[in-house]
Amino acid sequence: MYGLLTGAIVTDPKKQLDIAPRLLEWFDVNGRKGLPWQRDTTPYRVWVSEIMLQQTQVATVIPYFERFMSRFPTVQALAHASEDAVLTLWTGLGYYSRARNLHKTAQEVVHNFNGEFPDDLAQLKQLAGIGPSTAGAIASIAMAMRAPILDGNVKRVLARYHRVAGWPGQTTTANVLWSLAERHTPHVRVADYTQAIMDLGATLCTRSQPSCDRCPLNLSCLAYRRGDTQQFPGKKPKKNLPVKAVTFIIARNGQGAIWLEKRPSKGIWGGLWSFPEVQDADTIGDWCRLVAGAELHRVELAPILRHTFSHYHLDIQPAYVVIADSAANGISLQDSDNQQAGWISARALQTKGLPAPVVKLIKALEPTAG
Ligand code: SF4
Repeated sequence: MYGLLTGAIVTDPKKQLDIAPRLLEWFDVNGRKGLPWQRDTTPYRVWVSEIMLQQTQVATVIPYFERFMSRFPTVQALAHASEDAVLTLWTGLGYYSRARNLHKTAQEVVHNFNGEFPDDLAQLKQLAGIGPSTAGAIASIAMAMRAPILDGNVKRVLARYHRVAGWPGQTTTANVLWSLAERHTPHVRVADYTQAIMDLGATLCTRSQPSCDRCPLNLSCLAYRRGDTQQFPGKKPKKNLPVKAVTFIIARNGQGAIWLEKRPSKGIWGGLWSFPEVQDADTIGDWCRLVAGAELHRVELAPILRHTFSHYHLDIQPAYVVIADSAANGISLQDSDNQQAGWISARALQTKGLPAPVVKLIKALEPTAG
């Protein structure tokens, strides 16, 4: 590991920009080299890993990535899969639009680019779910093109290193960071450099308590020299999220199957399977008669479960429904990709993409599930 660095503090702005040699030297000794997406590096594997790593820690992503690659080893395999199959492998990772975009982009790559990712940054950025940073990562890591990236780790490193004020979500701050990222990106060993700066952010320049004493950039890092690393990057301005409320009807039939509905592909949890929703518990009886074709016998309300999205809190009132009419046991809709609602057996549940709160509520049912 790097020890405490000694030497002259770098104050010349031109030299301050020259971080690549120090990062690469550090990376050769300390960089992460055994991650699954670093083996057999292809644009497809780098792309899937980059999408999974957005908003998600490396340790969480590894088993998801391995399962995804064994089920969909090529972009063609992903393109030809059903949306349900893709969403099922994504269950638990959250931010499901990422999975739907993966599927859509795989189809586009197969149909419009003959199964090969375009080696052109502008064309990569046109693909669904591929922003400038992901495009830069695919191009630099898998195609050795000189292309900058600016993911969360890199933003943190550069904001501290140059003491860039402001929240990186604001366009003006992001523009400054992009221009620095561009200037730092070297012409040689660009794949290693990309990996190195991401690794530095993930392992040393961490959100809280960065390990500056071991950092290869500490002689010229402005925030470290000023002792104010915690001020950078600037925080997102706080706003109070609105609260929405919904009641989930959690109904099971005599065979222990659960009634689920496939959500529309647009909107929250698009394409995933979830419980029917009503605005309040008083209308559950109507739902039982009209939709499930059975009389409501009893409702048990469980404690409210709060799920927070980026733009609002959703307070979920779980309503466990006991259906009296044995006719409900007879309703048995076929599981197929076209079916939008029905009784889903425990076995069929394994093939459905489910939002996290639904997984949690189904787990709570398990002791009595058939
Ligand atoms: S010296 Fe500290 S704050 Fe600066 S880049 Fe290194 S780890 Fe981050």
